[in-house]
Amino acid sequence: MLYRRFPRIPEKEISAVGFGLMRLPTIDNDPKRIDESAAEEALLAALEEGINYIDTAFPYHGGMSEVFAGKAMEKLGLRDKLYLATKCPTWLVKEPSDFESLFAKQLERLKTDRIDFYLLHALNTERWERVKKLGGMEFLEKAKRDGRIGHIGFSFHDPLPTFKRIIDEYESWEFCQVQYNYVDTAFQAGDEGIRYAAEREIGCIVMEPLRGGSLANPPPAVKDIFAEYGKPRTAAEWALRFALERQEVATVLSGMGSAMQVRENAAVGSSVRPNSMTRAETALIERAAAFFKEKMPVPCTTCGYCQPCPQGVNIPDVFNIYNTASAFGRLGDRGPWYRNSVIPGGTGADRCVSCGECLPKCPQSIAIIDKLAEAHAFLMG
Ligand code: SF4
Ligand code: SF4
Repeated sequence: MLYRRFPRIPEKEISAVGFGLMRLPTIDNDPKRIDESAAEEALLAALEEGINYIDTAFPYHGGMSEVFAGKAMEKLGLRDKLYLATKCPTWLVKEPSDFESLFAKQLERLKTDRIDFYLLHALNTERWERVKKLGGMEFLEKAKRDGRIGHIGFSFHDPLPTFKRIIDEYESWEFCQVQYNYVDTAFQAGDEGIRYAAEREIGCIVMEPLRGGSLANPPPAVKDIFAEYGKPRTAAEWALRFALERQEVATVLSGMGSAMQVRENAAVGSSVRPNSMTRAETALIERAAAFFKEKMPVPCTTCGYCQPCPQGVNIPDVFNIYNTASAFGRLGDRGPWYRNSVIPGGTGADRCVSCGECLPKCPQSIAIIDKLAEAHAFLMG
């Protein structure tokens, strides 16, 4: 494994690939029922491969990701062998004391007395204003002084100007976390945001390098593009390489669901240095990006923040089916699956009553109601 550093945290070496604990293996497809034995195996494989950064958050796996991480670290004796990152669920903070009580709950779940990297989760304009007003930064600084927090950062899903404002309005950020992959270079923070942060000595963590997994399983047209390279590489490797190419990026998080995925991704993190991509490689990636941009009608990362829908619509699932069917250029098995399984199961777009509850929760600002209608029409053939 290769290691990198944040400019403001030079004393710590972070593995170039980090383990995101948001897509752990589950039982019966229930996100809250983590398959602990398979997840522990993946975690141990990560440690063996030199991955030393794990990233969880209050809402991942319906709250069970932090619980799993706490249990696994205790059982396997891992707490002092890795850097632990988790995030303050900023949308749940309604009054100043909530920062303390949420943090205490997270320490309890994680069975630890300190969080090495603590982020304000999914900041946007409204949340940033509320965090400042309710004394969030004072809380973080106090927790850092008394040793409960190692380093202060934020994760982000909003337009670029907001990103710059958040960077500018607090001078002690030590790191930030942004969505970045070869399709989303000019989306949210994007290329410009990463550069902007780096110019102020704030290092970046990349999330969604595989765009919710869609870049790991591309349609044949994209596989054909990558095949022109001559050497065998998986689509996931191409996507990880793209994110690791940037000097400003300290670690690239991958939401890994098995020990095998861990080992594959760790191999990439062990071999890719920044600024090492050739012109030929860059050209292939640009062509793949153009393909996806043209074919995928919804920029959904399947993060699930819009869930639950009071009517039972499985929004990320519907968008995933729609995007996949569109990218492959045909309905394939997706249309029948939607009609014969999703709709009868009561999670299809037909259930949407346009209440709008999901709209402010989407970090990608997707016009969910309109896009659901569009997806439904497409998938019904
Ligand atoms: S707008 Fe539709 S999808 Fe969104 S929460 Fe309401 S019913 Fe569910
Ligand atoms: S619609 Fe938005 S919030 Fe919902 S899963 Fe997709 S990206 Fe996430």
